[in-house]
Amino acid sequence: MSESATATIELSLSGVPVRAEITVPTGPTRPLCMIPIFHALADTIVDVALKSVEQQGLQVSCREGCGACCRQLVPIAPVEAVHLRELINELPEPRRSTIRARFAAARPALQQAGLLEKLRNPEGFSDDELRPMGLEYFRQGIPCPFLEREACSIYADRPVACREYLVTSPAEHCAAPTPETVHCVRLAAKVSTAVARMGRPVPKGRFIRWVPLILAEERAGTHQEEPSRPGPELLQELFDRLLDQGREPKAPI
Ligand code: SF4
Repeated sequence: MSESATATIELSLSGVPVRAEITVPTGPTRPLCMIPIFHALADTIVDVALKSVEQQGLQVSCREGCGACCRQLVPIAPVEAVHLRELINELPEPRRSTIRARFAAARPALQQAGLLEKLRNPEGFSDDELRPMGLEYFRQGIPCPFLEREACSIYADRPVACREYLVTSPAEHCAAPTPETVHCVRLAAKVSTAVARMGRPVPKGRFIRWVPLILAEERAGTHQEEPSRPGPELLQELFDRLLDQGREPKAPI
């Protein structure tokens, strides 16, 4: 049986103290094995933000049955692409083939819109170039392959960016999103950004390691998985990357 260590984490999120115990294997650990921790931490930070939203007398308008944001360009970390591919591989048939077919069907649509090659190398684009690309992507109306009856079919396993995206503006505004009309819930820190920066040094202020969810299956096949490292080292890096966010300009995505 592999040995594990438990760390007690105490954080102040927008002034709200949060205490959590996180257990990780002490031996070599695939970054992929940290996914449940990324999810739990993101959910904790979102919960704190939701309490603050309530205190301000606001309400989150995201509801099951509203999948407008699931047609947006969703950035995920390379390790999450691998996670999604494993998730798909474990699906029973015919569901596995159905999801794979949706991913495959998106590629010609993106090609026709002139987006496919760009999205295959998203890290080469500046933030100014990415915004119009995101809008053009949304205009294509390509639903996330996991969206079914306007609800997320992998809700418990959805990527961190999906967990972090909540709005207080009227749901109908998400069908034609603009920075003026869509008000996102502000988070004290973004686990999605921290995860995307794990594994190698990246220039500060840039969120450069991401994969569009719609190309997750394709990218996971070519992505060279990060080497295993001791669990405590991975956890330390995750928190270092989270703390970085308080010391630098906001990440663009
Ligand atoms: S994974 Fe789920 S929540 Fe995320 S974009 Fe797809 S359907 Fe929406």
